[in-house]
Amino acid sequence: MLGLNEPDAGFRFDLNTRHSGLHRAMGALIICEDVWKVYQLGDVEVQALRGVSLQIERGEFVAVMGASGSGKSTLMNLLGCLDRPTRGTYWLDGRDVGRASQDELAELRSREIGFVFQNFNLVPRTSALENAQLPLCYWGLPLREQRARAAAALARVGLNGRDQHYPSQLSGGQQQRVAIARALVSSPSILLADEPTGNLDTESSREIMEVLTRLNREDGLTVLVVTHETQIATYAAREILVKDGQIVSDRVTAGAPAGRS
Ligand code: ADP
Ligand code: MG
Repeated sequence: MLGLNEPDAGFRFDLNTRHSGLHRAMGALIICEDVWKVYQLGDVEVQALRGVSLQIERGEFVAVMGASGSGKSTLMNLLGCLDRPTRGTYWLDGRDVGRASQDELAELRSREIGFVFQNFNLVPRTSALENAQLPLCYWGLPLREQRARAAAALARVGLNGRDQHYPSQLSGGQQQRVAIARALVSSPSILLADEPTGNLDTESSREIMEVLTRLNREDGLTVLVVTHETQIATYAAREILVKDGQIVSDRVTAGAPAGRS
């Protein structure tokens, strides 16, 4: 898949082996049990997530919907190991994220998670190839291999021949595809995209969703997409609705209609 082989087994390490057996056996990639996230703003407590329980299997394509301020980004940040729950438990591939140290969280993130944001977050005046290569700079891979992986990831999102372009020379849709390539270069288990089409026109949005659909269907990548738009959510096979920090609906949908991907 992708021609981006799994990182050398020597790089891998196992967090919380003691806790992993049961949940590995259960097989779900993501298990949240009564997860809360509470922000303390001076005297004010903001309950951004209020008891979220959720299970996501490997290879799912999930849309997360909900009004602004409902807790979607907070949930994505937790699932992406950028943050830990205030209460409750989050197992990622059998590992108890709440018990991980900061270093272990960083390691989990770099091995398991690819992030895509609304604003692309590319490094300006830096080529598409170098942008895509960035996550690999701490891995100690030979430069040649880093470049090869980055080039393969760019090709996977349909950006062949654009390796040397700067972000400013690319359209919004192409910049977002560079960001997706950067997220893929470390062969993550999960791609988390927080409103990836929020800054894009309809046609570019469609392109991005088709790229994500291909990665999900052909490479088996687990994809979670936050969106405001019903039309965007129709690409996913499952739709989760968040309201006031809680999941109020979780349903299987038809997924992308035939001919779309
Ligand atoms: P969404 O992505 O659905 O718009 P967020 O997850 O960003 O919602 O925010 C959920 C709630 O948590 C909001 O009330 C927001 O103001 C609050 N919030 C988010 N991040 C922080 C933070 N770092 N500190 C304090 N409050 C926050
Ligand atoms: Mg948000």
